[in-house]
Amino acid sequence: MKTSHANILMCVGIPLSCLALVLAACGRQPEEPATGQSDVETATAVAQTAAPAEPAAVNAQRIINADREPGNWMSHGRSYDEQRFSPLAVINDSNAERLGLSWYFDIPTDRGMQATPLMIDGVLYVSGSWSMVYAFNAVTGELLWQYDPQVPREKLLELCCDAINRGVAAWDGKIFVGTLDGRLVALNAADGSVAWDVSTIPEGSAYSITGAPRVIKGKVIIGNGGSEFGVRGYISAYEATTGKLAWRFYTVPGDPSQPFENPILEMAAKTWTGEWWKLGGGGTVWDSMAYDAELDLLYIGVGNGSPWNAQIRSPGGGDNLFLSSIVALRPDTGEYVWHYQETPRESWDFTATQHMILANIEVGGKERKVIMQAPKNGFFYILDRATGEFLSAEKYTLVTWASHIDPETGRPVEAPGVRYDGGQPTVNFPGFMGGHNWQPMSYSPRTGLVYIPAQQTLAVYAHDAEFNYRPGFYNTGIDWTKAMMPEDPAERAGILDQFTGFISAWDPVAQREAWRIPLGTMWNGGILSTEGNLLFQGNGTGRFVAYRADSGEALWGFDAQTGIMAAPITYEVNGTQYVAVVAGWGGLGVLIGEIGKKASAMVNRSRVLVFALDADGALPEPKTYSRGTPNPPPLVDDPALVQHGKELYHQSCFACHGADVISSSSQMPDLRYMSAQKHELFLQITLDGILHTRGMGAYKEWVSEEDAKAIHAYVIQESHRLMGGMNAESD
Ligand code: CA
Repeated sequence: MKTSHANILMCVGIPLSCLALVLAACGRQPEEPATGQSDVETATAVAQTAAPAEPAAVNAQRIINADREPGNWMSHGRSYDEQRFSPLAVINDSNAERLGLSWYFDIPTDRGMQATPLMIDGVLYVSGSWSMVYAFNAVTGELLWQYDPQVPREKLLELCCDAINRGVAAWDGKIFVGTLDGRLVALNAADGSVAWDVSTIPEGSAYSITGAPRVIKGKVIIGNGGSEFGVRGYISAYEATTGKLAWRFYTVPGDPSQPFENPILEMAAKTWTGEWWKLGGGGTVWDSMAYDAELDLLYIGVGNGSPWNAQIRSPGGGDNLFLSSIVALRPDTGEYVWHYQETPRESWDFTATQHMILANIEVGGKERKVIMQAPKNGFFYILDRATGEFLSAEKYTLVTWASHIDPETGRPVEAPGVRYDGGQPTVNFPGFMGGHNWQPMSYSPRTGLVYIPAQQTLAVYAHDAEFNYRPGFYNTGIDWTKAMMPEDPAERAGILDQFTGFISAWDPVAQREAWRIPLGTMWNGGILSTEGNLLFQGNGTGRFVAYRADSGEALWGFDAQTGIMAAPITYEVNGTQYVAVVAGWGGLGVLIGEIGKKASAMVNRSRVLVFALDADGALPEPKTYSRGTPNPPPLVDDPALVQHGKELYHQSCFACHGADVISSSSQMPDLRYMSAQKHELFLQITLDGILHTRGMGAYKEWVSEEDAKAIHAYVIQESHRLMGGMNAESD
């Protein structure tokens, strides 16, 4: 870490200024596959050979006994334990170099793609941007049907992180998808027609859904997002047959003058102070779940506080349960069973929503049923999944906010000053992008290793003394003007160098990294491991790569022509094994501007890629694009106005158009290149929403004309900066 004692500045997606900061610091263990579930209800296990007459005829027995039909991938993490390990080995470390493109499909959207596909009895189900769903013949790539939920494009204004979706669920002939505008939709798997369509959120609220549902015992479980926009998190269960709400569990307490929805929230309310319910509180369950059928426990990962800044959210102190916690629930009723809070009094967007894996591993010489997670805060946690008992936690990436987790209390021992409550900003590793984000990891019982798509990130946090809740904006409680990227190119480059990505092959028994694969970028794809001693991962540079799972040696790679974030799956049909992944750059990687740019200097695609041995398909020639020629009006000679515009820009606009007005994806307009005509129409575009069908909704309810002009003045300045060669970059 060459940055210790340097003037660092961070930025990530967020602005930051020059703060002088001193950084505090700057195996293999074979194990039986987790079989705990497989003795449940085995009597009715489906026969392996007879293909069901109905498509997506998935039920409890089939998912619980997923290893009996390894050719299928029937649930988000393949099995309820979410290990993302496939028993298939037709493709293996001795022949992986013979992999080739079997088929591809270019979806006519060009936004981020994050979905894990499902493959059930010869049909591949994929969700894409705008919560659309596609069904393909898994062998030929023929499009069987598609479904468009018609999400209003201006919903983008209430999303933190792009129009993405992480996958569908299947059950009893239906395919389930959560939509960006908060609906849960059941499709008939045979033709994609709508079986039912229910809203899971209050009308007009700033909730969204990007996560994949899970189906447990006939109930479709789905959470939501929105903790940057002032919501109160919850998770719901709907009857798969009818769409009727079965139960709902709120992750944070509501107004204590009203009856609590359940007794555990009365306990949780004792860990909050002030009037948090007026700000939402946060704690959305936007991604990870796992299920242990033997213990009959559903595990959910709970997100960050809303606003992020705990001094504002809960000014009198308190741990703020169940923010940043893993919570175990009864899947039939939503009844609370246990919780473990990873980051008490969360104040840095440290979610516990990252991928959770269930496995049976040795801890202290004894086999334990554990749950494993590498959340944003940088520690790899192992808990007893029956009781929630803390077993251990170690750093899997650079962590400066806490020295360690106290083994007695299970609580982090924080570094001085990290709470930015003394008026001083703090620079923390990891930052809000996390040491690991939503990209799924994988556990191989074969190697005993957990493969984490890890990253090194930092962020500057500073208290916003002027905080007021503002709809349509990021309500973080952070003063981003104290966290702006420096203008000096060398200083910027020094900060950008701190953002790196790698695959960590983590030995959970020893609780240390066995080895790592450095990657050229941060924000890389999810991971699949297989019995064929292989790892598959796509990355931010657009390469899809197969590695040896025991050593990390690269065996094969493919140029996808677009950045990959999603996790691959593998499946088998008629004796042929396939590997599938969706490609398409986006998500949080888009909003991080210059950082993301390292990974995305190509035309973005929404693309399904399927590989097999000795296949020889080819992609079309990559398209080139031009952002055009910057044509800004003259600079606005009003430094205070420009500065005000910069602050406003980084509370809202940056989430699509990139920090510092640098877009990192071809489909996101880089406003520095706006045409003269767009500049003329700037107020109609931003305030009146004349481009709302393209996602640029009307801001007039939330932004005054004066403020829009300030933002415009700042954008004009950045366009001139580009033309003048300041911070020169190539596009
Ligand atoms: Ca968040």
